[in-house]
Amino acid sequence: MRKLWLKKNEDRRVRAGHLWIFANEVDVKQSPLTDFAPGEAATLCDWRGAPLGSVCVNPASLICARLHSRRPDTELDEPLLAQRLQSALSLRQRLYPGPWYRLCHGEGDFLPGLVIDRYGDHLTVQVTTAGMEQRREALTEALRTLVQPTSILWANDLAARGLENLSREQQSEGPLPERLEVPESTCRFYAPCATGQKTGWFYDQRANRAELARYAADADVLDIFSYVGGFGVSAAAAGARSVTFVDASAQALAFAEENARANAPDCEARILCGDAFDLLRQLRDEGRRFEVISLDPPAFIKRRKDAALGLAAYRQANDLAVQLLAPGGILATSSCSHHLEAQALRGCLTQAAAKRKLHARILFAGGQGPDHPIHAAMPETAYLKCFIAQVGA
Ligand code: SAH
Repeated sequence: MRKLWLKKNEDRRVRAGHLWIFANEVDVKQSPLTDFAPGEAATLCDWRGAPLGSVCVNPASLICARLHSRRPDTELDEPLLAQRLQSALSLRQRLYPGPWYRLCHGEGDFLPGLVIDRYGDHLTVQVTTAGMEQRREALTEALRTLVQPTSILWANDLAARGLENLSREQQSEGPLPERLEVPESTCRFYAPCATGQKTGWFYDQRANRAELARYAADADVLDIFSYVGGFGVSAAAAGARSVTFVDASAQALAFAEENARANAPDCEARILCGDAFDLLRQLRDEGRRFEVISLDPPAFIKRRKDAALGLAAYRQANDLAVQLLAPGGILATSSCSHHLEAQALRGCLTQAAAKRKLHARILFAGGQGPDHPIHAAMPETAYLKCFIAQVGA
């Protein structure tokens, strides 16, 4: 196996547990990146030649190598993939009663570039590195042995693949389900199987939805950026009087309406399709108020350079949500942008409350569920924040 040499002192982050190597950290005189084929496995060495582990190299990417083993000369082959996936599977089996969860969360499961969501017998897989792309056959074999899926959707129409010089495409094996069926807490949700960048269902918010549902009895609920209704339907099933779903996707809203009807037939469900910011202003001006609100926007900060604009969008959304709350109402405010820190999201909430001369009390602080493990040495693997707060005078 070829060696990838690091420059002096560039071994510290990896020694501390991180899995990424950046192109500027490589001693390209000793090991020119262009010598490596995309996805090729190599032994990573510090500047003295001491081995640090094994990586897959991609000369085309800024993150030019990702560690998959602390041992040198170790291929990311089927046995290793199977071993890592088995350990990912065992964790989920301890956590959940049935096979509905994120089965693999990339670096958080020591499998860089691989995300797998499991829906019973169906798997939706996202591959975002050349290293993983090169090993798709081995990966498929490992998955067949481990969970015997009836269908696999390779949902690889992802912007992130551009960073690794991979094409954007969607492929499938086996008969895809017409739609996904996802049991969660006391509910059963339907969701589209294959739409754009989503894998069909957001498992990461599972615990936060259950937490918000505790406040739902008899409430008028507003589910902003509802998608197929994860938060709103959970609240409806917990006894809400009405739920209003807001989303820009008519398809998502059709599912939300059906999910509400199926899980809470007595709850009044309304859908509002369009830009959430416009719709929230409209609701505010009509004098509508809600006892419980979920605000769960798409990532407004996808890259660090979007930070200022994105923060402004979070501020504005939280400001509108607070204006729509009934006195003493409950707001669950979320952000899935890694680049927005929890403190900053909390700032959006407190500013919005202060602006209306109200107090916000945080009752719950949540994040991504344990089927989205955070690699302790990699802040990049933590992304979801959810605060549930009561806002009042
Ligand atoms: N709360 C959901 C997940 C939300 S995902 C759950 O619990 O499952 C984000 C959603 O925001 C997507 O459904 C997307 O269609 C919607 N969206 C994105 N931009 C929007 C906009 N400007 N206005 C309204 N909805 C938007």
